[in-house]
Amino acid sequence: MKIEAMTEKYERWLGDESRIRGRADAVCFPESFEEAREAVSHARRAGLHITPQGARTGLTGGAVPEGGLVVDCQGLKDLELREGPVLYAGAGATLTQLHALLLKEPWVFPPNPTEESATLGGMFGCNAMGIDGQRTASWVRKLWWLTAAGEVWEIGRGSYVFDDSGCALPDGGRLSCETFESSGVLNGLVTVKQMDLIDFLAGTEGQLGMALAFELELAKKPDCDWGVLYFLPTDPAAMALCRAVAQAENSGSVTVMEYYDRAALSLLSEGRHNTAALQELPEFPQGAGAAVYVELAGDDPDALEGALFEQLDIFEGLGGSEEQTWAASERYEIDRFRKLRHVVPELANGKTDSFSQAVPGLTRLSSDLKGPAEKAEDYLEMYRGGIAQSGAHAVIYGAAAQNRFHVNFLPETPEERAKCEVLMAEWAARAAADRGQIITENGAGLLKRELALRFVPEAVKRQIKAVKEAFDPEGVFK
Ligand SMILES: Cc1cc2nc3c(=O)[nH]c(=O)nc-3n(C[C@H](O)[C@H](O)[C@H](O)COP(=O)(O)OP(=O)(O)OC[C@H]3O[C@@H](n4cnc5c(N)ncnc54)[C@H](O)[C@@H]3O)c2cc1C
Repeated sequence: MKIEAMTEKYERWLGDESRIRGRADAVCFPESFEEAREAVSHARRAGLHITPQGARTGLTGGAVPEGGLVVDCQGLKDLELREGPVLYAGAGATLTQLHALLLKEPWVFPPNPTEESATLGGMFGCNAMGIDGQRTASWVRKLWWLTAAGEVWEIGRGSYVFDDSGCALPDGGRLSCETFESSGVLNGLVTVKQMDLIDFLAGTEGQLGMALAFELELAKKPDCDWGVLYFLPTDPAAMALCRAVAQAENSGSVTVMEYYDRAALSLLSEGRHNTAALQELPEFPQGAGAAVYVELAGDDPDALEGALFEQLDIFEGLGGSEEQTWAASERYEIDRFRKLRHVVPELANGKTDSFSQAVPGLTRLSSDLKGPAEKAEDYLEMYRGGIAQSGAHAVIYGAAAQNRFHVNFLPETPEERAKCEVLMAEWAARAAADRGQIITENGAGLLKRELALRFVPEAVKRQIKAVKEAFDPEGVFK
C-alpha cells in the first residue's frame, strides 16, 4: 500500500462536517487488515500520529488531523450477510451499502445517525446514535480491532468485561486501572465497571486504536409501522404531547419521538426550494410553532392501529386537528418524514458555510447534551431563554422525552459565536451537575474536547491518561 504525501489533491481529508480544517503529513487508503497494519508500522517508523477516518461526516472534528498520517478506512468495505443472521461489515462499509444489502431482507440494523454516507467505523468511533436512540456499539457482537502495536484483536462480546480493577485483554495481558460507576459526562474513554471491552472501545474516537471490521446483530423488521408528524402551536404544547405519548398505554410501540422547534421548521421551509427531500412533502400547516415526529412499529396491525388512535386522541385532547397531522404507513413515505431529522443539521451547516464566505474560519457549533428525562421541559426553557437573552440564532431539535435535544447555533460573526460558546459552557455545567452527559452521540472531537474535559473529575482524567498510555505507549494514535 502506498503512503501518499499530503498534497492539494487530498485537501478534503483535512476536514469534516464541523468545518474545522486540520493539517497532515501523509494519507493512506488500506483495503485489507494487512494494509491497515502496514499503516501502523509506517506511522511507528516515521514517528507520525494516526488519525483514523471514515466518511468525515462527523460534526465535531474527530476525524480532522492535527498533523501525522490520515488512515482513510473507506477501503475496508466488505459486507456480507451470514448465518444467524449476522452481518459481517468492514469498518469502511457505509450505511447506504448496509441499507441496500438489507432492503429485501426481513432484518434491519437499528442504529441510524441519518447520514447515509457515514461508515460503520466512524459510527463506532463516536458510538453514534441518531433518530431511534440505538447506540452503534450495542449491536456489535464481534469486533476486529487494530492496536497501536499493530496486532489485530478479535473481540467477542462477553469475552472481556471490566471488573473493579481493570479488564483482561485479547493479547493475554491485563489492563489494570480504576473503574467507575458510569461514564459521567462523556460517551467514551471512561472505564466503567461491568462494561464490555467492545463498549469501552466504542466512542474512543480513534485515540486507542482502530476498528477494522464488525460482526453486527440484526433486528427483525417490523411487519408494519407508522410515521406521524404532529404540528403544534407552541413548545409547551409539543412537550405535553411528548409526555402524554411516552406515558400512553400503548407507548411500547413508539420507536422514535423527535421534536422540532419553530426555528427548525422555518429553516426547513426556507430550504424547500433547493432541497429535493423537502419538495416531496407538502408545506407545513399555518401557525405551526413546533412539531413532534413519532414512529410506531410492531407486528400486529390491529394493535398498532389501536396505538395510533390512542395517540390521535391525545393530540385532539391537546387541541390538535387532522389538518395538523401527517400520517404515513408506507416505508418510502416514512423515510421522507425521517429525512427532516437529517435535513435540519444539513441546512444549518449550509448556513454556516454561507456565513463563513464573509467571515472565513467560522466553524459549526451545536450542543449534544443529555439531561435527566424528567427535566426535559426545564432544559428546553433554559435553551430557549439563553438563546433569547444572548440574541443568538439557533434551531432546536431532538429526542424531547429523553431530554436529548440538539441546539444547533447559527452564528454569523466571531462575536456571536463567542456568545454561543458561553451558553454552551453554562448548559454543559447544568448537565454535569444533573449527572447528565455533555457528549452524547456526536463525539467530542476537536470542537468539544476542551469543554467536556472541564467537567470530568480529576480521578477520571488521570485514568483516561493512564489507559491511553497502556493502550498506546508510543502515541501512535492521535
Ligand atoms: C447532516 C448530518 C446529520 C447527522 N446526524 C447525526 C445523528 O443524528 N446522530 C449521530 O450520532 N451523528 C450524526 N451525524 C454525525 C456523523 O454522521 C456520525 O458521527 C457518523 O458516525 C460519522 O461517521 P463517519 O464515517 O463520517 O466518521 P468520521 O467523521 O470519519 O469519524 C468520526 C470519528 O470516528 C473515528 N473513526 C473513524 N473511523 C474509525 C475506525 N475505523 N476506528 C476507530 N475510529 C474511527 C474518527 O477518528 C473520528 O473521531 C450527522 C452528520 C451530518 C452531516
